[in-house]
Parts: sequence; C-alpha cells; structure tokens
Amino acid sequence: MTASLRQTVALVTGASSGIGAATARALAEEGASVALVARRADRLDELAAEIRAAGGAATVVPADIADRVQAREAVGRVVEELGRLDTVVNNAGVCLVGPAEAAPEHEWDRMLAVNVEGLLHVTRAALPHLVRAAESSPRRVADLVTISSTAGRVARAGQAVYSLTKSGVNAFSESLRQELQPKRVRVGVVGPGTVDTELASHLRDGVREAVAGQIGAMELLRPDDVADAVRYMVTRERRVAVNEMLVRAGEQS
Ligand code: NDP
Repeated sequence: MTASLRQTVALVTGASSGIGAATARALAEEGASVALVARRADRLDELAAEIRAAGGAATVVPADIADRVQAREAVGRVVEELGRLDTVVNNAGVCLVGPAEAAPEHEWDRMLAVNVEGLLHVTRAALPHLVRAAESSPRRVADLVTISSTAGRVARAGQAVYSLTKSGVNAFSESLRQELQPKRVRVGVVGPGTVDTELASHLRDGVREAVAGQIGAMELLRPDDVADAVRYMVTRERRVAVNEMLVRAGEQS
C-alpha cells in the first residue's frame, strides 16, 4: 500500500537535468506539486511545461543553491506561493573527480560549495517547514531525501573530495534522522551507482576520457532508476521509514 502525495508540495534541487528532473516527474506523477530548483531557468521551464501537460503541477524556482541567500529565498518562495513544504529532495551536485595531486583548487571548492554548503543552505531553510508539515498535514509525515552516492559508502582513488562530500552528507543525514524521528520527518539517503546523466560532462579534459574508459561498455543506470528509489521512500505509509537505499548498475562492482 502506498501513500499518495496529493495535496503535498515537494522541492527538488538540481531539477534541470538527470536524476533531479526524473525525480520531479516521478513526484508529480504521485500527485505532489513540485518546485523545480536549479540555475538553468530555461531547462526548468521546459520540464514544468512537460509536467503540466501530463496533468501535474510544477513551479519554477531558479536559484544557485551555493549562494546562501538564493537558497533561503528559493525555499521561502516555495512556501509563500504553494503554502507548505512536505518533501525536499537534496539532489543538486557536482562530481569533479580526478587525481588529487593535479586537481585545480576551484574544482574542490565547487564540490564543497554545492554538494555540502548548498545542501546545508536548503536544508536549514526547509526544516521548520518540514516539521510543520509533519505536525499539521493529513499525512502527518514529511520527507527529507538526499541523493548521495556509492562514493559516500566506498572511497576510491581519484574521488577523494567527492567522497568526502558524499560521506559527509550521509553522516549529516543520519544525525538529522535521529533528531527528527520524534517529529515524524523521515530522513533518507539514496546512493546511486553510475547513472547516465550530464554529470561527467563537467569533468576536465583527460579525466573525462579516463572515466569513460573505466565505465567502458557497462550498461549504466538511468535517471528513472534512481527516481524510482526516491518515489518508493516518500510514498511509504507513515509507519514505515526507509532510511537508505544503494542503487548500483547491475554490471557495477
Ligand atoms: P546532472 O549534472 O545531470 O545534474 C546536476 C544538477 O545539479 C543539475 O540540475 C544542475 O542544474 C544542478 N546544480 C549544480 N550546481 C547547482 C547549483 N549551484 N545550484 C543549483 N543547482 C545546481 O547530474 P546527476 O543528475 O547525475 O546528479 C544529481 C545528483 O546525483 C548529484 O548530487 C550527484 O552527485 C549524484 N550522483 C550522480 C551519479 C551519476 O553517476 N550520475 C552517481 C551518484 C550520485 P544547473 O546546472 O541548472 O544549476
């Protein structure tokens, strides 16, 4: 038995592509009114039009979540315009891997700014609203889901800072899970393996080719495969809390 997301509001960061876009579609299919957050407004507009054409509800909220003020204002706008906030999916992220010795400082800074600080900005702004939704909504539960990575579970050579960010958000989520459990805000982490998205397109020359070589002919996960995991988590009945799901590609070791 699943719980419908009708009459709830969900905010998805990084909704302009890949896993975030697929997750927004999935939550809209479940009946949530989805707020689409990312920097590329044109991509968000296209997705919102697609969701509306399919009978769903979507609001475009362009923001750079690495900017504390923009992140806070994005959450504030969603609550002001849609009246509540029941589900947050912290998905926006960058993965700028490669040997540490040769890594440009700005790549490490970017991963910390988006994967960690951006997630903190959004979460801090959203928490009071999630607690309120869990107290007062007919569902009496709210959800905070973070898209981490298998790199947050197993650190591998060449991924030092990316793994730092993803294992960090795992620890952050577990602490929040314990704190928010009495308030019925469920905290979950989805750790994908390798997914076919735009993520690797941001890698610097040389690293991009090396990563492609490692992947070889492996059949990758699709964004929908990860969105399905998020959908599963947030549509459980109130008595169930699914706190962690690792979703690897079938051919991935
Ligand atoms: P994409 O590159 O397709 O999507 C990343 C999203 O993050 C985009 O929508 C981008 O939007 C958004 N984003 C990046 N920086 C910011 C910012 N400063 N403010 C707001 N939004 C931002 O990659 P994926 O869909 O693959 O990645 C989604 C998540 O999944 C990431 O956290 C990633 O680490 C994780 N993941 C991905 C895996 C993979 O193999 N693809 C494996 C494991 C985890 P915009 O540029 O418009 O701002």
